[in-house]
Amino acid sequence: LKDILSRPDLVIEKAFVGGEWVDAEEGKTFDVINPARGDVIAQVADLSRADVAKAIEKAEETRHAWAARTAKERAQILRRWFDLLMQNQEDLARIMTVEQGKPLAEARGEIAYGASFIEWFGEEAKRLYGETIPGHQPDKRITVIRQPIGVCASITPWNFPNAMIARKVGPALAAGCAIVARPSELTPLSALAMAKLAEEAGLPPGVFSVVPGLDAPAIGQEFCENPLVRKLTFTGSTNVGRILLRQAADQVMKCSMELGGNAPFIVFDDADLDAAVAGAIACKFRNNGQTCVCANRIYVQDGVYDAFAAKLKDAVEALKVGDGLEDGSDLGPLISTAAIDKVRDHLDDALAKGGSVLTGGKAIEGLFFEPTIVCDATTEMKVATDETFGPFAPLFRFTDEDEVIAMANDTIFGLASYFYAKDISRVYKVAEALEYGIVGINTGIISTEVAPFGGVKQSGLGREGSHHGIEEFMEMKYVCMSV
Ligand code: ADP
Repeated sequence: LKDILSRPDLVIEKAFVGGEWVDAEEGKTFDVINPARGDVIAQVADLSRADVAKAIEKAEETRHAWAARTAKERAQILRRWFDLLMQNQEDLARIMTVEQGKPLAEARGEIAYGASFIEWFGEEAKRLYGETIPGHQPDKRITVIRQPIGVCASITPWNFPNAMIARKVGPALAAGCAIVARPSELTPLSALAMAKLAEEAGLPPGVFSVVPGLDAPAIGQEFCENPLVRKLTFTGSTNVGRILLRQAADQVMKCSMELGGNAPFIVFDDADLDAAVAGAIACKFRNNGQTCVCANRIYVQDGVYDAFAAKLKDAVEALKVGDGLEDGSDLGPLISTAAIDKVRDHLDDALAKGGSVLTGGKAIEGLFFEPTIVCDATTEMKVATDETFGPFAPLFRFTDEDEVIAMANDTIFGLASYFYAKDISRVYKVAEALEYGIVGINTGIISTEVAPFGGVKQSGLGREGSHHGIEEFMEMKYVCMSV
């Protein structure tokens, strides 16, 4: 890995605790593996719960001075960090591709996307205005001030090793909090490289620590049980989200949860089919189907079903599967054998229940899988209720609007949804009827730092990005004065 970087020092195997690069106290390490080749690329410090407690203590020690700085000073440091992330975009992207598998072009895109949150929230820091409220009695003066919540902890997954951290650390630091981040054990290198650049940007020691470790449940417990931690921000599965919410209940800790999705992608008769195909490809196959906003269920209206399926087939067959570092790879490997098994399971289940393969359908040696379309999908299939997280596109047929809205909403999840249509009254009606935190209309790509990202129902709590995203890291204080 170091050979393909202009800054090999960005590959770091130590943890970043209290502003120092440290080994685990017990000297333990864990292997990081390149999913495209299966080889070990690094051995990273495997922190214990006690190591993580130290990072939390450092955060507590340093947060007051950080919060006391002016917003402008914090913003300047975040801006320098943003600049360094972008200056090192190519190296950061290569590190990401090697540890996570996504094609280099997507990795570059993620670095820019992640950095955009650092830039955005630095700018927002300067506009965290309070309120004055007309008093309820003649002598009363009421003001509302907003203050950083305190020490925050984050837990993030492997599918966006940079951006999921940036979306949490950016607003936390901008608000004046200190934050301890546990990256996924599968992708710690991207997080550690980010921390290195944060250090170079002049972030004071201790306000941002990165604590890699294999024992996620133990670290999660420390985050929830340590009384110094005031806020937990998590991205991952709904199951782990539930565990963390239960654990956080004892301290009544404020939580943000970005959990699983099961996105419907609806193509109506009046859709621009070429645009819908392009959107479906972007939305379903980005990151090899491994995003929580990936289309999971594609509903196509009767009148265009066959035409859409034929066009989608051509587009899918043009996708190239390969090592993300190789030019022209559109789909990299999946993250693990468990991920391959899940795609296989959803596919076998669909075929057993009457589905038919239109294209793809086979695993390829290593962790690769052919991008696959299955026609005649039904609500009895596993894919109708469970997120595949892989390159498997089931096509459901529907006849009318109300039917498809009911099917689309028939899930415990409510993160992203998409539809393609031109009729303006249909567009309004469907957008309002979909029970989702995000609706993409005539587009398959919705992520941006300027808009609130998040789910309803069991897809989560809170929002990331936009001016709303920083609220999660602040408390309001009502100050009542008698004059
Ligand atoms: P994914 O399917 O995206 O891997 P998970 O919810 O399993 O989603 O994992 C998301 C993150 O949560 C990962 O970093 C993982 O290591 C971590 N994690 C898994 N189980 C726990 C737990 N019990 N407590 C805290 N973190 C956990």
